[in-house]
Amino acid sequence: MKNKSIWDEEKYLHNFDKPFDTDTFDILIIGGGMAGLHSAYFLKDSKKKIALIDKGKLASGVTSKTTGKITYLQDLVYQNLEKMYDKNISYTYYRSQKKAISLLLSIIQKQKIDCDLQKVISYTFSNEKPLEKEFERERDLLKEFDSKIDTLKKFPLSIPYLYSISAGDTYVFHPLKYLYKLIDILKEKIFFYENVTAHSIRKKEDLFWVETSKGILKAKKIIITTHYPFFIIPGFIPLKTHIENGYALAIKEKNQNFSAISYKKNIKSFRFQKDFLIYGGHSHSFSKSYDIEKEKDAFLDSFHSFSEKKIEYLWDTHDIMTDDFMPFAGEIQPNLYIATGFNKWGMTNSVISAKIIVDSILNAKNDFQYLFDPKRHYNLRRSLSFTSNLCKTGKTYICTKLDRYKKSVGCANVVKENGVWYGIYKDEKGIEHKVYNKCPHMGCSLTFNHFDKTWDCPCHGSRFGIDGDLVEGPSTYSIAVKKNTN
Ligand SMILES: Cc1cc2nc3c(=O)[nH]c(=O)nc-3n(C[C@H](O)[C@H](O)[C@H](O)COP(=O)(O)OP(=O)(O)OC[C@H]3O[C@@H](n4cnc5c(N)ncnc54)[C@H](O)[C@@H]3O)c2cc1C
Repeated sequence: MKNKSIWDEEKYLHNFDKPFDTDTFDILIIGGGMAGLHSAYFLKDSKKKIALIDKGKLASGVTSKTTGKITYLQDLVYQNLEKMYDKNISYTYYRSQKKAISLLLSIIQKQKIDCDLQKVISYTFSNEKPLEKEFERERDLLKEFDSKIDTLKKFPLSIPYLYSISAGDTYVFHPLKYLYKLIDILKEKIFFYENVTAHSIRKKEDLFWVETSKGILKAKKIIITTHYPFFIIPGFIPLKTHIENGYALAIKEKNQNFSAISYKKNIKSFRFQKDFLIYGGHSHSFSKSYDIEKEKDAFLDSFHSFSEKKIEYLWDTHDIMTDDFMPFAGEIQPNLYIATGFNKWGMTNSVISAKIIVDSILNAKNDFQYLFDPKRHYNLRRSLSFTSNLCKTGKTYICTKLDRYKKSVGCANVVKENGVWYGIYKDEKGIEHKVYNKCPHMGCSLTFNHFDKTWDCPCHGSRFGIDGDLVEGPSTYSIAVKKNTN
């Protein structure tokens, strides 16, 4: 079994680890995943001088670990939006997802991208009895929105279910084949720079100054597509979101023409990729549990309940959930834009978010700008959701602080020396690896992830290697213990 995503088998043939050509650009995009590369794509003919920086390789973030379903059938989001706001907002969100799919398809077609695109029937299903009315409502709403929604006679998998909804005009693809080709197309027009971490942004007269790991970059406009922002102000995104971790595996299986995801507890997701079945799920918020090893075992148990096949790939990743089921895409300060909070539906939401931002920069009309506006208003329901979100993150923060006092967990331990908390991991050879046990992002305590051998921040999702190197943000700094050189 390989502990990596099935997509990572695709060879990355680029290398943009090079000095800056200049230090001033019209537009600087920070983060080269689905959202960042689509922002670059929509801007490519704008005649503006555009740079895109990434702290690692392009397309190596969450997008490289997605399950890659391109669908507007997203849990029971339409009635959730109807309850949160109203039917009109729900319908506008529906249109935004259809628009995103058509944009993706037109890029694939126009650029002739071979990315294993497959048209499939998507299913949302559930085995939870109390959800009957919810499934009915979702079906009714989708029918009203003019979709080809169906009630199923036979669900294609031999796992228990009570209700399902299906839609035919949805897709799956190979996200990295797609993005690598996009990079090929863009590399003549966009200044790409890899292994450049953005640490902070400040405004000086009419330019933004971005402090990066390789020096200052200046730009008139900035687009933040780092998945999770590395700052709190402006936007206050960490207060409006929480992180959910999810797991995926791939086994050899004959291809079938469908994808499916269950709702609401113990999520199970299925899609095929050539001769593999990708099974995903068991998403949990870190406020519920941050014991990745335990949760991964539960995920594997759920898999073994319906299959005994050999697991070829196993991986996990996390996504950002907002307090009202919709992403944040747009201006958070004049000329500073953000796209984040895709609620686990980032294949469509990243594309439409990028389009919203680029249309705003180019002064083009976009029907969805107000919908995804990061500064959108709070009604009572959203305020309650915001408060609950804040409480969950607060609970996680406190629990991780208290957990430091617990005794050693296997080979990893948290200790206090001279008033400073350290994490110590003892490797297979008995060598100790010591790091600071405090996330540089917002000061949360870190827990050891025995599966990935990383120190993880359960509050906001940063990850660090056993010697403290930064694996994943929002932190932009490492937790390596500074060596005493005297
Ligand atoms: C288990 C799982 C399954 C999923 N399956 C689906 C699915 O089937 N369909 C679907 O629609 N969505 C799915 N999603 C959601 C989707 O994968 C994500 O929402 C999407 O990939 C996020 O794209 P992104 O561009 O925002 O982030 P990323 O791909 O993470 O890109 C962000 C980039 O920013 C860079 N970066 C970060 N910080 C900095 C910094 N300070 N300086 C410079 N660069 C930085 C990173 O290195 C990274 O390359 C799934 C999510 C999970 C967790």
